[in-house]
Amino acid sequence: MTSHAGISINGLNKSFGETSVLKDISLDIAPGERVVVIGPSGTGKSTLLRCLNYLDRPDSGTIRVGDLTVNPAKASRSDILALRRRTSFVFQNYALFANKTARQNITQALITVKGQSKADAQARADEILRETGLADKANSYPAALSGGQQQRVGIGRAMALDADLMLFDEPTSALDPEWVGEVLDLMRRVAEKRQTMLIVTHEMQFAREIADRIIFMSDGQIVEQGTPEKLLETPQDPRTQAFLRRVA
Ligand code: ADP
Ligand code: MG
Repeated sequence: MTSHAGISINGLNKSFGETSVLKDISLDIAPGERVVVIGPSGTGKSTLLRCLNYLDRPDSGTIRVGDLTVNPAKASRSDILALRRRTSFVFQNYALFANKTARQNITQALITVKGQSKADAQARADEILRETGLADKANSYPAALSGGQQQRVGIGRAMALDADLMLFDEPTSALDPEWVGEVLDLMRRVAEKRQTMLIVTHEMQFAREIADRIIFMSDGQIVEQGTPEKLLETPQDPRTQAFLRRVA
């Protein structure tokens, strides 16, 4: 695997109208680190991930990936495209193109985001479809796939980009329970490759297994963070303690 850059987030702020959703978030993620974010709903977890991909534009704060630094005060279109090549996003609702096959969903991303030729994109897509166990679904449209298969395509699409950081926003929350296991299995395989991952999930057992670090967010701020053992067994902040009692 190619060597990947670390991520450094410094002083990130984001408001929607009068509502301050991210309050001065700073966070470094080392290459190969798997970080899980937990916290109550409405706390800014999705907004944080979306800002890292500039799906939401931060109001202030810098995002640095390797030699690329993106700052909303002076981010050019090409900076934003460069950031999107370096971060890839797995959405809760898969966000596949309904009028494209599994294979076309992956090739399209490689062509648009990475500027690959059609032939290179197709070769990479076929490799990814094999790796995600979807080779026999290459020509299926999303509507003909189970939720689990659709999300595996969504993860495959993000894997294909070979990004420095993969962002997962509650990737199993929209799934019927029967499909959760296969999606978590695929994420475990991604993690085993030391892919740097930032994952929002409520799957606490999975988080405990996979995370190098768990971050508890509340009200737009990082309240506390630590190893799974430390954060889950001996949470220090009353908000973390209350949250963990609810999800346990
Ligand atoms: P979480 O993922 O932790 O549940 P979100 O990041 O989705 O939280 O949302 C944090 C807050 O920001 C919520 O109050 C939500 O209503 C608000 N919010 C998120 N996106 C938008 C938007 N595009 N416009 C207005 N408010 C938004
Ligand atoms: Mg969310």
